[in-house]
Amino acid sequence: MENKKELGDWLKKFNLDHPLVIAGPCSAETEEQVVKIAHQLKDSDVSVLRAGIWKPRTRPGNFEGVGALGLKWMQTAKEETGMLTTTEVANPNHVELALKHDVDILWIGARTTVSPFIVQEIADALKGTDKTVLVKNPVNPDLSLWLGAVERLYTADIKNLGVIHRGFSAYEKTKYRNNPEWQIAIDLQNKFPDLPLILDPSHIAGRRDLIFDLSQTALDLNYDGLMIETHYDPDNAWSDAAQQITPATLIQIMKDLKIRKEVGENEEFQNNLKNLRAKIDIADHQLLETLSKRMKISDEIGKIKKNQNVAILQTSRWNEILGKMILEGEQQGLSEEFVLKMFKAIHQESINHQKKIISE
Ligand code: PEP
Ligand code: MN
Repeated sequence: MENKKELGDWLKKFNLDHPLVIAGPCSAETEEQVVKIAHQLKDSDVSVLRAGIWKPRTRPGNFEGVGALGLKWMQTAKEETGMLTTTEVANPNHVELALKHDVDILWIGARTTVSPFIVQEIADALKGTDKTVLVKNPVNPDLSLWLGAVERLYTADIKNLGVIHRGFSAYEKTKYRNNPEWQIAIDLQNKFPDLPLILDPSHIAGRRDLIFDLSQTALDLNYDGLMIETHYDPDNAWSDAAQQITPATLIQIMKDLKIRKEVGENEEFQNNLKNLRAKIDIADHQLLETLSKRMKISDEIGKIKKNQNVAILQTSRWNEILGKMILEGEQQGLSEEFVLKMFKAIHQESINHQKKIISE
């Protein structure tokens, strides 16, 4: 699939002067809930109402969605508010029911994108329709798998496509429920600039206080839209309670976000600059995270050296690291002088850490 301009035509038809906003509850719970939330969102920047009908739960025993019944509630919400609707489909049966109930946009969830078999079945079920399909990133940080799902749909003649960045799971817990790994989405955006890219800060964050910052980063990186979980009573939501926000909070967030428009030469320069700076900020953040990880390993080494009464500084090991890193640095376009300075500083910090541990 080369970059095809038509991929984003569905989005242009919205004719928006702001990013596309998709909002609504994690799950449809009751008819009253779906319709009420739709009404609270309708006079805002939100164009599309989301609600999960079939919920993929990591472990059984949790609320698994209301099923096809909820599709009727979404139809009612659409009739009453004029908003478009979207839901997750995870198999051909879901596709059939969603089509029957006139859902406008379908999304493929993170746990489905990982399975080429199921994605192919969904693509086949959609053949011959003109639905818009949004593909969430797979749960694991694998760009090919993400692209592969988009390609399967494209090959089945689904040309109205987009992707949703919802973060990636990791064994090590961070402040995020799913790590953003912005670089993966940026790589995808560079490869397919005309494929609309939407951020789902709710599933990245897992908690509502991070949603604003994540959304602002996405807009600084020229994302095309946001999908944000919204509920009138977030704390009592039947799924993903901690990450949902009220429609009023969402409307305030949309007001506070700095939305960049693509106009004027000078402004284009400013946009590019902001975009690149956002990328630098992400890279710097990763650098610090990696350095901190390295120091923690060094602390572990300090502990075992202490047990065995071994000296901190081992010159031969250090020279070996340095030699390897200078060569590798050269291959990556970094000067010997820089690599040397940087590793000396890292090594010094490592020694300081170990000294502290040994003297404890
Ligand atoms: C959702 O959007 O409610 C959902 C289940 O998302 P994901 O597939 O990203 O986990
Ligand atoms: Mn959810």
